[in-house]
Amino acid sequence: MTSTLESKIAHNAERVEQRIAKACRQSGRRRDEITLVAVTKTRSAEEVIAAYHCGLTHLGENRVEELEDKRPRVTEAIPAGKVTWHMIGHIQSRKASRVVQVADVVHSVDSLRLARRLERYAQEQGLVLPVLLETNVSHEESKYGFPAWDDEAQAQTVEAWGELADFSHVSVQGLMTMAPLGATVEEATGVFRALRHLRDRVRKVHRFSSWDELSMGMTDDFEPAIREGATMVRIGRAIFGPRNA
Ligand SMILES: *Cc1c(COP(=O)(O)O)cnc(C)c1O
Repeated sequence: MTSTLESKIAHNAERVEQRIAKACRQSGRRRDEITLVAVTKTRSAEEVIAAYHCGLTHLGENRVEELEDKRPRVTEAIPAGKVTWHMIGHIQSRKASRVVQVADVVHSVDSLRLARRLERYAQEQGLVLPVLLETNVSHEESKYGFPAWDDEAQAQTVEAWGELADFSHVSVQGLMTMAPLGATVEEATGVFRALRHLRDRVRKVHRFSSWDELSMGMTDDFEPAIREGATMVRIGRAIFGPRNA
């Protein structure tokens, strides 16, 4: 039996899939190079479970409390180990130990201070936490992330990241960014291209072979992100509809 909720999400997810497929064709990429993270912030456990039944198995939340609350309610209803929970929002350092317990992947590591705490708690809990480094390439003051808006900022950030090579419980998989709200396609493309170039620069300097992932692209800009090399897109509204403020 399919609920109306489920058929709405299935319909939207199918349209998102078609748009992803088209962006892949335009840029000569394969669909399986890209992970679709369904952003479930503000959505009920019921909506998340419906999304799982539509084949969405990567889920993104931006608040620790909400993830702690929702994850057990969702995993009650679906088989263990079937979904991967991505933490995509800013994390206060004092909440680092809770994040290690509740998230499977963290996209929003935006300081060395946070990275060090995650390393310590992941070690205590005997696990390895895959993370992405959130990077501010567009120089919006309001935005979190390692500074990377010009050559000098990038040089300093890349040097600082060298410390992460010694971590054994935080495993850096790549970089994450957001284009400015209301950016044109051209502006968003520039931001995403800058992140890809930065990833390439880091790999040259540090020879970190595992830094492959680029988490970039949301409802309004995932097509240009895919054309610029995104390996993870984080999509909420195009799947679940508008969010209530
Ligand atoms: C909310 C959010 C998204 C998804 O945004 P939509 O516009 O709903 O697709 C992606 N990334 C982060 C970090 C978010 O907070």
